[in-house]
Amino acid sequence: MSFQDFGLMAELLRAISDQQYTTPTPIQSQAIPTILAGNDVMAAAQTGTGKTAGFTLPLLQRLMANDSKSGHRHVRALILAPTRELAAQVEQSVVTYGRHLPLKSMTIFGGVGMQPQVQKLRRGVDILVATPGRLMDHMQRGTVKLDRVEILVLDEADRMLDMGFIHDIKRIIKSIPRVRQTLMFSATFSNEISALAQDMLTRPQRIDVAPRNTAAETVNQTVYPVHQTDKRALLQHLVCTGKWEQVLVFARTKHGADRLANQLDREGLTATAIHGNKSQGARTKALREFKNNQVRILVATDIAARGLDIDHLPHVVNYDLPSVAEDYVHRIGRTGRAGRGGEAISLVSPEESKHLRDIEKLLRKPIAQMHAEGFEPSAVAHIKPAGQARAGKPGGKRPSNKGRHRSRANAGGRSGGQKPQSRRSR
Ligand code: AMP
Repeated sequence: MSFQDFGLMAELLRAISDQQYTTPTPIQSQAIPTILAGNDVMAAAQTGTGKTAGFTLPLLQRLMANDSKSGHRHVRALILAPTRELAAQVEQSVVTYGRHLPLKSMTIFGGVGMQPQVQKLRRGVDILVATPGRLMDHMQRGTVKLDRVEILVLDEADRMLDMGFIHDIKRIIKSIPRVRQTLMFSATFSNEISALAQDMLTRPQRIDVAPRNTAAETVNQTVYPVHQTDKRALLQHLVCTGKWEQVLVFARTKHGADRLANQLDREGLTATAIHGNKSQGARTKALREFKNNQVRILVATDIAARGLDIDHLPHVVNYDLPSVAEDYVHRIGRTGRAGRGGEAISLVSPEESKHLRDIEKLLRKPIAQMHAEGFEPSAVAHIKPAGQARAGKPGGKRPSNKGRHRSRANAGGRSGGQKPQSRRSR
């Protein structure tokens, strides 16, 4: 199957070839013809599957096909996304794939001034990518009109519900025409999502590329049992010995993310944190530095990291396990993108063993356990995979008490200044 087979217009095929995409991804193969045919769609697809092009390409084609070419521009497609980052990235895709078309798009999200958005809206846009909260602000002030929307997309619908946007979404839907095409994308399909879909979609076509609630198969997942207090040293050890150059690290709290990034940075591993308390400018800067390889480690909270478009990220580390098992699936979706292999590593303390069991239950398989030399695992050996014994040590090092101090000192690698510590001293 090639992109030509979908009957996409020449301008879109040109944009696709500008991107050097040769073959549609599985979600694109299913979604593009279904959406072009005018169906509502309910798609289970994680970030990294190529879903954005999967809905953007047919959306652009349908807008062009119905283009009246007269008068002022109206919002004809509305794409809702949970976070500023995702909204910005989706709009970037709209710009990329629509670069040879005369359609205008913009994003609206909170954390930045209203006025520039109001002015841009006034000048007229065809495609609006918005976070629900800020869109509601504009609706209440009467600065946006949605009565000409033909296509509604809900991207990462599950996360929008997790973030408490359900009421905003329902209100937004009330102000757009009933007769429309609606496309819903979600990494997981909970009962709540299915209920929302029932309300919003008309005879939707189900598209299920990644099996429900399973992690991307291209991702090699491992768990390192470790005491909480040893996690940072183990992380440094893994980064340095593995010579990882670009690592996304997940932390549970904003404060924890900041603290970890500062400590790593002080010890010579360039690191920065991205979370909801940071200004939009600071978040964009952190992401840019990470993408440009100026910063080696990006420490993120779940919400901030959601939907980050970082291509071919080789390593993701769960510094803290998420308390909601489904977040694990979202997190590891950052790696192994578009068919490439990736590695997802979880540092799991004894206190987190219940979270690990929940995750393994969701995945319906145990995650292999590994042990880094010098990070003596015997004290945490009781972290057992759900329903079975230890899953082996693929490529892992044998546990050893010897060399712990040496290993710790080496773990500093590029950092230099790390002091070996004895567990007994703590
Ligand atoms: P998404 O799941 O939409 O976040 O897309 C993940 C990444 O895959 C993006 O960086 C896209 O640029 C890339 N991508 C999308 N479609 C294709 C394709 N057909 N071939 C290669 N890469 C693609």
